[in-house]
Amino acid sequence: LYNMVQDLKGNIRVYCRIRPAFSAEAKNVVDFIGEDGSLVVLDPLKPQKDGRKNFQFNRVFGPTATQEEIFKDTQPLIRSVMDGYNVCIFAYGQTGSGKTHTMCGPSGGSTKDMGINYLALNDLFQLSNKRTDTVKYDIHVQMVEIYNEQNRLSVFHFICWPDFVFLTAHKLEIRSCDSGPSVPDATMHSVKSTSDVLSLMKLGEVNRVVSSTAINNQSSRSHSILTVLVHGKDVSGSIIRSCLHLVDLAGSERVAKSEVTGDGLKEAQYINKSLSCLGDVIAALAQKSSYIPYRNSKLTLLLQNSLGGHAKTLMFAHVSPEADSFGETISTLKFAQRASTV
Ligand code: ADP
Ligand code: MG
Repeated sequence: LYNMVQDLKGNIRVYCRIRPAFSAEAKNVVDFIGEDGSLVVLDPLKPQKDGRKNFQFNRVFGPTATQEEIFKDTQPLIRSVMDGYNVCIFAYGQTGSGKTHTMCGPSGGSTKDMGINYLALNDLFQLSNKRTDTVKYDIHVQMVEIYNEQNRLSVFHFICWPDFVFLTAHKLEIRSCDSGPSVPDATMHSVKSTSDVLSLMKLGEVNRVVSSTAINNQSSRSHSILTVLVHGKDVSGSIIRSCLHLVDLAGSERVAKSEVTGDGLKEAQYINKSLSCLGDVIAALAQKSSYIPYRNSKLTLLLQNSLGGHAKTLMFAHVSPEADSFGETISTLKFAQRASTV
């Protein structure tokens, strides 16, 4: 089964993806990528030996890696959801490093080069159809967005359906129930095909809270979570209940570089806080610590069920290859290294 292969690899994995350079003239600082998951970054101000920084991950995908290659490596993990495992996949990195490309696909809404969200759902539907003789599956999806976590939580959700569009942007509460934390007021829909989900994701993407920063005026300032809930019943009557969270995190860039003030500064501070909490949780899990600080952020609280225990977690650390991103690249890789068990 899919789990066996996965179990050998451990429950927490960290992959790195380097996006292609935007121009051929840009100086590339991510210098060497090893087949074994190693990576070397060169400090553009210290071209000598002491400017080389080495990192080690479970896998590194270079600028030429295709969406299919990324998915192929992720597929067994995703499929284990159909066998009852909870799975969480994160895209981490500074704005413009390729997080949304990995999860959703290229900007502009083309259906070429679709990302993990689409390929995963497509695969789960296919698997569900293949198993109809043995297991009857129900698949539901929910799209939740966490923006500016404060004492009171703001979760926005966007649900789109072929026949009607339902959009709310009010504050929703995370509640604890038997199966763990959930957002009961966010509408859940049973989905029958990938195209149902595609329209949902498009609307969610369009509506993500965006505000302009000096780096990128499409900068996403919120965490976007596509949750796939799987409910299965096999011939013997036993029940499978599991979930897959596909998370496109807010940009990890530090406040200074985005040159933000006012509301933007507040946003940046919330983002920094929730990302550092996420790092703390994954690092605690990787070190098999007895205390896991889930409750320190809304993000980790909501994802608690799919972080730790038997759940499987995969973090994609995204980096830009250009010299002017060197500082952010190093801080992303340090964050990812801390979360990793390698
Ligand atoms: P983020 O979500 O981290 O802010 P994006 O995914 O929006 O970054 O990527 C920034 C730009 O780079 C987009 O125009 C995107 O299409 C492009 N891009 C990112 N990664 C890749 C890749 N692996 N191959 C081709 N283009 C990419
Ligand atoms: Mg994005």
